[in-house]
Amino acid sequence: MTDTVQRALTQGRALLVEAGIPTPDLDARWLMAAILGMPPDRVILHLPDPLDDAQAFAFRNALLARVEGRPLSHILGGRWFYGRWFRVTADVLDPRPDTETLVDLALSAPFERVLDLGTGSGCILLSLLAESGTSTGLGVDVSDAALEVASENQIALDLQARAELIQSDWYSAVEGRFDLIVSNPPYISEAAYADLDRGVRDYEPRLALTPGGDGLAPYRVIAADAARFLTPSGRLLVEIGFDQGQAVAAIFAASGLEDVRVHPDINNKDRVVSASAPAAN
Ligand code: GLN
Repeated sequence: MTDTVQRALTQGRALLVEAGIPTPDLDARWLMAAILGMPPDRVILHLPDPLDDAQAFAFRNALLARVEGRPLSHILGGRWFYGRWFRVTADVLDPRPDTETLVDLALSAPFERVLDLGTGSGCILLSLLAESGTSTGLGVDVSDAALEVASENQIALDLQARAELIQSDWYSAVEGRFDLIVSNPPYISEAAYADLDRGVRDYEPRLALTPGGDGLAPYRVIAADAARFLTPSGRLLVEIGFDQGQAVAAIFAASGLEDVRVHPDINNKDRVVSASAPAAN
C-alpha cells in the first residue's frame, strides 16, 4: 500500500505521543513540511498526496531522531525566531519564544548602536538590527563555534555591513559605547540544571545554559561594567529565569544603574530586567 502524507503523519504522531514528546502534532507536521520542502501551514493541503520511498524513509529517520530527544531545530537545521529563520546547531542555545519578549522591549525605544553579550546564534542581535533600519551592532560570544553559527545567520539575513561578531569573554574584547546592551546569558543554577529535560541537557551546550552556582554570576559581571560601555541614559536589558527578578534587580541597583524594572513575558512570568545608565556618565 502506498503511503500518503496523511497516513505517515498519523503514524508519526502516534510514535511521538508514545515517546512522550510534548507537542506531537506540531513536531510531526514540521518534520513532514521539511521533507516535502514546504512551509508547515501548507502540509494540510497535501494530505492525500502519495509519499515516495525516499520521503517515507527520511520522515521515519527524522521521527526517530525526535523520539531520541534531539531538538526539532537540530533535525531541521534551524528554527523561526521573531519572524525569521535562524540556523541552529548543537553549538548554540536553541532560540526560545520567551526571548522574543526581550526583543520586543528592546525595540520599544530607538537605538543606534547595540551590544549583544553572549550572542549564540545571533538571534537577538540580528533580529534587532533587521527590525530597526540603520542601527549597527556588536555581538560577542566566548565560543568560536557559536560565532560561526551567528555568522551564517548574519550572512543569510544580509546584515554583514551592520553587525560585527567577535570572540570575547563578556566585555573583555569590547570597545566603545552603546546606547543599548542586551543579553540572554546562561542563568540556570547548578541545581536546576540537573532537573532540565534530557533533550535540553543532552543536545544543547551546557555553557549556554548554566554558569554553575546560583546562576547569577553573569548578571554581576554584566552589571559591574555596564555604565562604562553605555552612553549616558543608555539602556540595559537582560533575560532572566522566572524566579530571578528580585535578585537581578538588586544586583543592577547595587551597581548604580537607574530605573531598574522587571518585566513579564506573554505567560506572565518574570522574563526581563531593564535598567538605564545614569544621565551624566
Ligand atoms: N543570545 C542567544 C539567545 O538568546 C544565546 C543565549 C545563550 O547562549 N545563553 O538565544
